[in-house]
Amino acid sequence: MSGASDGGWRPRTVAVHAGARRSQYGEVAEPIWLTQGFVYPSAEAAEARFLQAGDDEFIYARYGNPTTAVFESRIAALEGCEDGFATASGMAAVSGALMAMLRAGDHVVASRALFGSCLYVLEEVLVRFGVKVDFVDGTDPDAWRAAIRAGTKAVFLESVSNPALEVIDIAAVAALAHEAGALVVVDNVFATPVFSRAVELGADVIIYSATKHIDGQGRCLGGVILGSREFIRGTVEPYMKHTGGAMSPFNAWVLLGGLTTLDLRVRAQAATAQQLAEALQCHEKLSRVIFPGLPDHPQHAIARAQMGGPGTMLAIDLKGGKDAAFRFLNALQIAIISNNLGDARSIATHPATTTHQRLPDASKAALGITPGLIRLSVGLEDSADLLADILSALDAA
Ligand SMILES: *Cc1c(COP(=O)(O)O)cnc(C)c1O
Repeated sequence: MSGASDGGWRPRTVAVHAGARRSQYGEVAEPIWLTQGFVYPSAEAAEARFLQAGDDEFIYARYGNPTTAVFESRIAALEGCEDGFATASGMAAVSGALMAMLRAGDHVVASRALFGSCLYVLEEVLVRFGVKVDFVDGTDPDAWRAAIRAGTKAVFLESVSNPALEVIDIAAVAALAHEAGALVVVDNVFATPVFSRAVELGADVIIYSATKHIDGQGRCLGGVILGSREFIRGTVEPYMKHTGGAMSPFNAWVLLGGLTTLDLRVRAQAATAQQLAEALQCHEKLSRVIFPGLPDHPQHAIARAQMGGPGTMLAIDLKGGKDAAFRFLNALQIAIISNNLGDARSIATHPATTTHQRLPDASKAALGITPGLIRLSVGLEDSADLLADILSALDAA
């Protein structure tokens, strides 16, 4: 049985209880069903299950597994989607969702400000299979209008972009896409399931890298594709189960633990991010502080309307360029230099030389990835300690 959020549960209750499946032992914690496959009571039962597996019947862990199924129903209920398919990583979710739905000759419109690996899938992989991809400035509704045409199969966007934190108006893009009959695919990592309203704004397919806030403790990779039952079971599952991007049951178990505290963590991290952004706003060594929760953010109004909170990520731009950015990073005592995000530990990243190193300079400039830009993933540390750490690193820069 896959429980789900019957009874109109609110998100925090859903994140703890939805989709629970207990065995005959009535265990409290979710068991880790660390098994590759399942035994059938008879040859006839095996035949019947291959023909049509019931809700509580499994065949092979590449297709589905009880622990993974709990994670899928819980995160789907949290997002307000009918169903989900858990994947080995966020990129398995992005590539799997797109490869499952597209075929040669299809047209896709994507926002240009994307995570480097998402850009690779759209720009390098899909085109090899004859999919035509046009990139637009995702913050410009006219650019979407001009690029979407009759026969466009899908639009792809990061609702809050990595690393420059552009916020895209999901409802506006969805209206244009749906008029053309295109599916709206949203990589919603920076918005987080806690602040997301993507479904009510018109997103058809929502993707998370669970590696980020859902784990939130830097332990494992995971991802999930969320959407209608028809899309997940009819389009995504056949592709994923035969191509091998399934989530490990062990990772599903770790991520279920993450879901129980997700709401508390994300809200605390976002509150600290807001405090830091406000405190750093006028710092003399910074040319910009980018945070959707600041009134001077170009899409502040959209962020307020489409997210339940400002997010846990902020970006600062050091006037002194790369040298200053490196001095700043090397002087940090609490925030670590790494490239994950959404973690309990605050993490500082220099996108120009790491996550976005591959991009030509002109593309970096177009995306706001300047030599002085530092992306800060705000963690769960004491906000006063974090601010003191950042201020003294700025002194050293
Ligand atoms: C990290 C990330 C991904 C990829 O997730 P992995 O779990 O690392 O594969 C995709 N999109 C965005 C916006 C991300 O931040």
